[in-house]
Amino acid sequence: MAAKTHLFPCLKDNYGVLLHDPASGATAAIDAPEAAPVEAALKSTGWRLTEILVTHHHGDHTAGIAELKQRYRCRVVAPQQEASKIPLVDETVREGGKVSVGKLTANVIETPGHTAGHISYWFHADKLVFAGDTLFSIGCGRVIEGTPEMMWASLLKLRDLPDDTQIYCGHEYTLANIRFAQSIEPDNRALAARAEQAARQVAAGEPTIPTTMAEEKAANPFLRADVSAVAASVGLAGKPAAQVFAEMRARKNNF
Ligand code: ZN
Ligand code: FE
Repeated sequence: MAAKTHLFPCLKDNYGVLLHDPASGATAAIDAPEAAPVEAALKSTGWRLTEILVTHHHGDHTAGIAELKQRYRCRVVAPQQEASKIPLVDETVREGGKVSVGKLTANVIETPGHTAGHISYWFHADKLVFAGDTLFSIGCGRVIEGTPEMMWASLLKLRDLPDDTQIYCGHEYTLANIRFAQSIEPDNRALAARAEQAARQVAAGEPTIPTTMAEEKAANPFLRADVSAVAASVGLAGKPAAQVFAEMRARKNNF
């Protein structure tokens, strides 16, 4: 049976997601920004929490863990490199590792840059990736603990996933990301189409998430640092993609 997902807003602009395996009844929360909206989501779906899969140690992804764990006795899975900064971890994972949610299985992809130990969870058979604060729709996370080179390498790993992979990320930043992206690629037609779609979604009170890898490859400038037109638009024609990425990330911080 196919995996089910349920997306809901948390805090100011975070997303929580539940991933449910109908065959076994297992349900994972991807990150736990705060307990109350996760509990409300469990109530509205009728699902029972069995796992919390943590992408990275930031408080807006972990603050709900203690309360949820106490209530549901769920298993907390977290990146090995950040386990000491995350409460009540039961199991640590790293690159190449696997995580089960009932009969669903994720491959762990290390995607450092935003934080040094950030991981993404790729449910290959279900065509889903939970990318935390590494990849956003039409954007990417701030490089806080790593280097731009590291973040670019992480984004390339995600970009290698199949085009029909649905991407869930940690925040609703899409409209702001689009404004910046259009300053880099004003003539990108896929980006213009995404801008229209996202504006409609937001006006209707809908999330712009999930997005797909195909859409992001076509319109997200942070996945396009190796496209010559993108390099040229930031004055770095012919330069290495990691340098182009670093320049775009720096510009976005001041945009
Ligand atoms: Zn974060
Ligand atoms: Fe965050």
